[in-house]
Amino acid sequence: MLEILQKLISFKTIPQNKEENKKAINWIKEEINKLPVFIKEFNFDNYPSLFITAHKTKKPKLLLSAHLDVVPGPEELFKLKIEKKKILGRGVYDMKFAIACYLQLLKELNQDLKKYDLGIMITTDEEIGGFKGTKAILDKGYSCKICFLPDGGQNWNFEIKAKGVWHLKVKSYGKSAHGSRPWEGEGAIENLLRFLNNLAKIFPKEPCKNKIHWHNTLNIGKIIGGEATNQVSNYAEAFIDIRYIDLKQRNKILKRIKNLLKKFRKIKIENLVEGSPYEVERNNYYLKLFSKIAKEKFKIETGYAFSHGSSDARFFKEKNIPVILIRPKGGGHHSDKEWIDKEDLNKFYLVLKEFVVQIAK
Ligand SMILES: [Zn+2]
Repeated sequence: MLEILQKLISFKTIPQNKEENKKAINWIKEEINKLPVFIKEFNFDNYPSLFITAHKTKKPKLLLSAHLDVVPGPEELFKLKIEKKKILGRGVYDMKFAIACYLQLLKELNQDLKKYDLGIMITTDEEIGGFKGTKAILDKGYSCKICFLPDGGQNWNFEIKAKGVWHLKVKSYGKSAHGSRPWEGEGAIENLLRFLNNLAKIFPKEPCKNKIHWHNTLNIGKIIGGEATNQVSNYAEAFIDIRYIDLKQRNKILKRIKNLLKKFRKIKIENLVEGSPYEVERNNYYLKLFSKIAKEKFKIETGYAFSHGSSDARFFKEKNIPVILIRPKGGGHHSDKEWIDKEDLNKFYLVLKEFVVQIAK
């Protein structure tokens, strides 16, 4: 499996590099072309992806999902390194280790695959939203009963909740005048600041008392506006990043925005990006099964985690498909010290294999 992972790491699969992703996808196809599997290839907007199944079906019972794309990094990160108990490299944890597990599994099951109701999905645009991968494929009617996606939940903790994300552009229109005579104009920047201050009132202020910060948040990421120091601004805009814990909270924020817009007639809002929150029940049958196998095989006690970020799990949630998100020991994803625990990776693979046998055979 280490050999597979090493090869996968060597491809510089940042999502913008569609050629490199294509090369990696082709390599994966080569690896499995002698196995009894059906391979469906997609190319939405030239982001290549694969949907591999043991039978000719669009809806395998169990779908193992992963993204091949990684965030950028210096050249040397694309060479797998082993330092004591750690495997290092770009994508070892986020999340090429999963693809290595899946390919190893296919090879080990080999002719036995015919007895399995199993699918594997590999996409290449998760780091930039997942719309041309997971979302597009699910929208084509591809589906499953249960999805396994180890793209969240560190150190054997199931990610059971993830916040929703909502990016907005706030546009403020004013009336220009000379800076020495502000009463003759209407400052778009001042208006924008007042609006943002009012909006911020419904979000908890930091430091808050909630240790895990399981609350809605607002970040003003960027503001542009005005032309000159001595001019009253006639236009300004802000880009804001809202994270919310559930749909009820999203409605509360939306209501607040609508009420504010009644008072701020010269403010307009534009929706940029939206991703739903994610949740899976703690007593989900498959989640409990995975937990049981980890305990029986290696005495590993699984736990739970909440996430402030989001993953492709949200697209499954939108189709009412439960997703199991859990990872072995590792960390540093998106940093230059991305790692996964070597021994733990092996355990993870064996737990996953048993999980697949029990569900999909
Ligand atoms: Zn907080």
